[in-house]
Amino acid sequence: MSLSLKGQVAAITGAASGIGFACAKALLDAGAQVALVDRDATALAKACAELGENAFAVEVDLLSPESVATMLPTILERAGKLDIFHANAGAYIGGPVVEGNPDHWDRMLNLNVNASFRTVHAVLPYMTERKTGDIIMTSSIAGLVPVAWEPIYTASKFAVQAFVHTVRRQVAPAGIRVGAVCPGPVRTALISDWPQEKLDAALAAGDLMEPEEVADAVLFMLTRKRSVTIRDLVILPQRNDL
Ligand code: NAD
Repeated sequence: MSLSLKGQVAAITGAASGIGFACAKALLDAGAQVALVDRDATALAKACAELGENAFAVEVDLLSPESVATMLPTILERAGKLDIFHANAGAYIGGPVVEGNPDHWDRMLNLNVNASFRTVHAVLPYMTERKTGDIIMTSSIAGLVPVAWEPIYTASKFAVQAFVHTVRRQVAPAGIRVGAVCPGPVRTALISDWPQEKLDAALAAGDLMEPEEVADAVLFMLTRKRSVTIRDLVILPQRNDL
């Protein structure tokens, strides 16, 4: 059985690009109204113009607690309710730890872990009071399998998995579903720091997915009947060896 998303209001962080943008498009096509939450005002304006009148921009810097505090009130003022919250924004750092820059790690960890937890915290009291809601977090296959190429990123997504698995059980009695979508490599701006030969090899071999594949997976999670939760959905390029 597949639920309709018509009339639902969704908010997606990091929606001005990549996976977030593809998810926004998929939810809009399914009849939802979508708040695109991002810090990049120019990209947001371009995305909303492309997506049409049911898409609206919510400019938030997820690394600023003050800015995150404005997110839910802005969405409610514009759309009147929030049914689906997708904590998707994240950054990527790979490479040997011995050559890494811990200050860069801090920024990524703050975004992938602290800020995504903060945004979920920002919407949970509202959803708890309504006794319904969906929370999706964009995790990664690196949240389930330690990827030796990317220790710090792997650690950030293991933290996301731990959060999803625990918070899901805390809020399930309130009618809220919490799930993680766990993609393998996807062709977005996020992996632009992959070494060129690694990117070329992956593209040539068909070892990368398009963001629309992840959006389809998210749509599947959200359209299950409400008595069913897809806790983790792992989606990989067919030739992925993880
Ligand atoms: P992307 O770089 O295309 O998009 C990230 C978006 O987040 C951008 O629009 C950016 O402006 C926004 N953003 C960054 N910092 C922000 C901040 N402080 N405040 C508000 N917005 C901010 O990346 P993507 O590949 O679409 O990644 C989305 C999610 O998917 C991430 O959580 C990432 O870890 C996860 N993921 C990506 C891949 C992949 O291969 N691309 C694989 C698995 C999981």
